[in-house]
Amino acid sequence: MSVTKNELLKTPEIKPTRQIIEALAKRINEGYYKNVPQYAVALRCQKVRGEEIYKIAAFTNPKTASAYIFIWPKENKYITWDVEEKKWRTAMIWYMFPVRYYRGQEKSFSSRPTFEMLKTVLKVEGKTAYDMIAKWQQGIKDRIREDKKQREKDRINKEYMNFVKPEPKNFRNWARKQYDQYIFYDYARNVKTGWCTRCNAIVPVKKPKHRKEAYCQNCKKKITFICNSRKDMIWTDGGRLTLVQNFKDGIIARSYTYRKKVWYKGEQLFLNEVTRQMITSEGYKEFEYDMGSWKDALKGSNYQGEYYTWWLNDEIQYLDHISSGLKKLRSSYLLTDRSVNVVNYIGAEQTHPVIEKCAKAGLTKLANEFVTKWDAKKVLDSVADGELAKDLGIDKMRMGRLRKQNGGWELLQWYQEEKINDTIWDDEILFNFASWDIDYTDIDGMLEKIPMTKLYHYLLKQSKLGTMSVRQVVQTWNDYMSMATRLKMDTDKSMVYMPKDLHRAHNDCIDLINTARVEEEAKKLRKKWPKVDKNCRDLKKYEFKDKKYCIVAPKGVADIYREGMVLRHCLHTCDIYWNRITEKITFLMFLRKADSPDTPWYTLEVEPGGNIRQKRTVGDNQNPDLKEAMPFLKKWQKHIQKIMNDEDRKLAERSDKQRRENYKEIRKEQKRVWHGKLQGQLLADVLEADFMAAI
Ligand SMILES: [Zn+2]
Repeated sequence: MSVTKNELLKTPEIKPTRQIIEALAKRINEGYYKNVPQYAVALRCQKVRGEEIYKIAAFTNPKTASAYIFIWPKENKYITWDVEEKKWRTAMIWYMFPVRYYRGQEKSFSSRPTFEMLKTVLKVEGKTAYDMIAKWQQGIKDRIREDKKQREKDRINKEYMNFVKPEPKNFRNWARKQYDQYIFYDYARNVKTGWCTRCNAIVPVKKPKHRKEAYCQNCKKKITFICNSRKDMIWTDGGRLTLVQNFKDGIIARSYTYRKKVWYKGEQLFLNEVTRQMITSEGYKEFEYDMGSWKDALKGSNYQGEYYTWWLNDEIQYLDHISSGLKKLRSSYLLTDRSVNVVNYIGAEQTHPVIEKCAKAGLTKLANEFVTKWDAKKVLDSVADGELAKDLGIDKMRMGRLRKQNGGWELLQWYQEEKINDTIWDDEILFNFASWDIDYTDIDGMLEKIPMTKLYHYLLKQSKLGTMSVRQVVQTWNDYMSMATRLKMDTDKSMVYMPKDLHRAHNDCIDLINTARVEEEAKKLRKKWPKVDKNCRDLKKYEFKDKKYCIVAPKGVADIYREGMVLRHCLHTCDIYWNRITEKITFLMFLRKADSPDTPWYTLEVEPGGNIRQKRTVGDNQNPDLKEAMPFLKKWQKHIQKIMNDEDRKLAERSDKQRRENYKEIRKEQKRVWHGKLQGQLLADVLEADFMAAI
């Protein structure tokens, strides 16, 4: 600028013309508009004497200009003197003097000479002087922005992108083999060949079926059959993949979005590079491809020097001879199986020296998991940089065992717990627990009751028995034990904490816990059979026990119902038994083990005189374990004979008679058992076999 700002201010003042004064006085009165100025601003332009500078006065009142816009048409420059604010501004005219539009016309005014002068010097199209100035200024702004963009693009290319090597020759061919593959075949009887999208060739096929998954006989890879007549073109699933190359004194990871269109004998690959991550001695850089150029992705982000992008962990990597780059970066990535995203690995390794130490000690799985597993990584933050075994919370002996198995994070945690517990557990067991994703905290409750080896075999057995994964068994056990505690079961008894069939024990608990349901059912039954509760109370005298077994009398409907639910037999669901209790023909009594008198075992149907009609346990069955209890039952029957009173004797006689008649009746009718183990047998045979007379 050869002319100073002060000199510009000394240029002659521009006065409003009569036309301008009149224009500014004009008002619109029409519909929505009431006494609104027709023109928001009026412009008058003059050339500055002896210079290629034009001075434009902007009037909003008829006395003096509100601002002067100085323009240098040849230099594409302008500056505005705000008369009212008394300061220089670079704001554009539409910002300083916003105009409304009225009937499609913007409301600015200029005389013809001003319009013609600006048209000549600004060389832009426009309907008004204001319009031309606005467009010209916008053009300058745009050009400045473009120049800045171009300079940034040039800088990024010069400093980074020019160092990026071309894609390896076989990269695209590798890429097209990723993701879904198909074999197209012609619909015909005995079709023998098809087009494999992976082989890019005609291959033999055997019994193809539309959408059926199979393996290509040529490349041996998984494919999906597509019948030509059904579909002529297929889009494969999209995804991302990464090309990793040497770059300067480090590496670059180039990430592409990927998709493929395939058809019979043809394909089109869509591979677009979207991000570039660079790790060199200068640090970490990340660029994103946007509108035709690479943009610094870290600009304005809160990047703190540690790069980690969790979703990159799953990206397929093409590693293009990056050994020299990795060596220059002194990365231990070379020692690993290279399954982890290389950028994430180096990022984690540079901030956490333990990772490198693990890799160097042969603990490559652990090194990888410190990179990919969030909980493992968190622990690293508190690890001191000392001796590796110590940093990992174990000792030399356990370090040796961990290395022998190339153990990962799960196994390491097991060794840590083993050390804390000051014990030695079997390596095979720990290895399996680790691979099943079972932590110490998952089973520490079990370990308090069951020694490790015994527990391990118990879990395996339950897993097989209940067709559950071992993890599910552990979950079931924890659920079961918390229910058992709520039910006040004796959880120190091995029968309780190591049930033979965990799955079943678990389900029984669910039913019992659901006391609301038991109460609800009991209420209904009580309404229908109001005498049952009272008659049950009279049974207290029949209770009996010795060292091994006991007979417990139900307190009422709810007890009988609950017993039936747990044992899953039918006694509590049949009206006939409720009726018999009401009529005092038979009663239901509970046979249980003396060491767990609250745990249902057998339900007995007993006549008032001690005759036992039926003995039922889980699923209407009788198990061999009942045999041992038979002497006890006989002892009990004798006891009943002794305590019976006259009324009991009368009832007993009646029951005995009724039973004999009843059995005779059903034998005549040839009634058979409908379900369960004894299905098909004569009901009378079954009942008589179960009958146990009191002598
Ligand atoms: Zn193939």
